Amino acid sequence: MKAHDGMYIGGAWRPAAGDEVIEVVNPVDEQIVATVPAGTAEDVDAAVRAARAAFPVWAATPPAERAARLAALRDVLEARKDEIAETVTAELGSPLALSKAVHASVPIAVAASYADLATTYAFEEKAGNSTIHHEPVGVVGAITPWNYPLHQIVAKVAPALAAGCTVVVKPAEDTPLTARLFAEAVHEAGIPAGVFNLVTGLGPVAGQALAEHPGTDMISFTGSTAVGKRIGALAGAAVKRVALELGGKSANVILPSADLARAVNVGVANVMSNSGQTCSAWTRMLVHRDQYDEAVQIAAAAAGKYGDRIGPVVSARQQARVRGYIEKGIAEGARLVAGGPDAPRERGYFVRPTVFADVTPEMTIAQEEIFGPVLCVLRYEDEEDALRIANGTVYGLAGAVWAGDEAEAVAFARRMDTGQVDINGGRFNPLAPFGGYKQSGVGRELGRHGLAEYLQTKSLQF
Ligand code: NAP
Ligand code: MG
Repeated sequence: MKAHDGMYIGGAWRPAAGDEVIEVVNPVDEQIVATVPAGTAEDVDAAVRAARAAFPVWAATPPAERAARLAALRDVLEARKDEIAETVTAELGSPLALSKAVHASVPIAVAASYADLATTYAFEEKAGNSTIHHEPVGVVGAITPWNYPLHQIVAKVAPALAAGCTVVVKPAEDTPLTARLFAEAVHEAGIPAGVFNLVTGLGPVAGQALAEHPGTDMISFTGSTAVGKRIGALAGAAVKRVALELGGKSANVILPSADLARAVNVGVANVMSNSGQTCSAWTRMLVHRDQYDEAVQIAAAAAGKYGDRIGPVVSARQQARVRGYIEKGIAEGARLVAGGPDAPRERGYFVRPTVFADVTPEMTIAQEEIFGPVLCVLRYEDEEDALRIANGTVYGLAGAVWAGDEAEAVAFARRMDTGQVDINGGRFNPLAPFGGYKQSGVGRELGRHGLAEYLQTKSLQF
């Protein structure tokens, strides 16, 4: 057990204002692995002041120099890849192979993409007799969740820094150790003091103080829709820029012409990965009635094979929540074909990989985000029915379409109310804008569109 102290503020680790701590628990064995300080409004204020002081110089730093710092940051993350993976595993509980392949690797690719974009982005353009400058928004308060501890931070900090903004991050209370490691990497990369600041703490205390602080010009939030609505209201009242990446309930639409076995197997893998704690996971599988029974059989067998190989969910609270949804599904009349609500192990926050068949669109498990390894298989009559079901939730973050013919899948995808669709198992692309339609959010992360979120325009007329 390591007791960490200090917050990374103004380029140094400074003692926290209060003496409350957060205990970081390993979800695999429920042991306390470390403590970190629980920041207060005072710590947030110090961090925002540091970010504000650093802003004018960083904003005026040539994009090529900002790009060089981001490239250095990418290199430090690469050099410390194993340590990052081990830290994510210790506090999130994800299997080490997943921590290496995804949790440590994706942020390296994202940091690299912004080192590149900072040099190639057109920060200045001409229109008629005007020159338009794309200038940084200012001081950004970034509030992140625990499900992809490093990715969620890098997906905000890298574009913000590329744009010329300075940042204060409040990471999730469950995964502050990865955030501290990131702060060390920022320091090692030679990013100037105050450009990046870290305050660990609780959402309703440190997070709320950051969102309310008059010194932040923008809040970028990723997390639940419930908290996102509050952040949006706060930002609206203060006329601040806001970006919200919220929940999802994405549809995996398998059209009759698709390779059924492949679509179902990839669909199950998508939901079980990271123990179902992925906001864009395809948690609703939509299958034509003629192929329904076969699809359910394949899905149940695929989930059964996962057995113990998926990690736990992040916390006891999350475990109780997911098991509650499984009980609710049974109570509402869905048919359990794999897994179930009972805990598979005595210790650790494990949930059994679960598949429900005979799920109807209005059931709670088909409407609400479960955020655990739970797949719902729904039956559709025809394409119009499939589209109605796919679009029939308050969310619109992601989705998938499978068809024998790519053009057929694309035609369906274009009618979906959602921000991302993978066609026939298309791969993750760190340059593709990521974000939600409807209540899945406001704004986009990643790539060029993710950079534009942190910019505002100034036009000069000649
Ligand atoms: P959450 O409770 O909304 O937490 C997200 C972040 O907000 C955490 O840092 C949290 O601090 C903080 N927070 C909580 N209450 C706050 C408040 N009143 N004011 C300011 N900040 C506050 O969500 P979560 O349970 O950690 O994460 C799971 C949810 O996030 C799911 O619904 C999932 O879909 C969503 N999510 C969305 C995306 C996306 O990109 N669209 C990505 C990942 C997750 P604490 O850690 O102390 O609670
Ligand atoms: Mg929370």
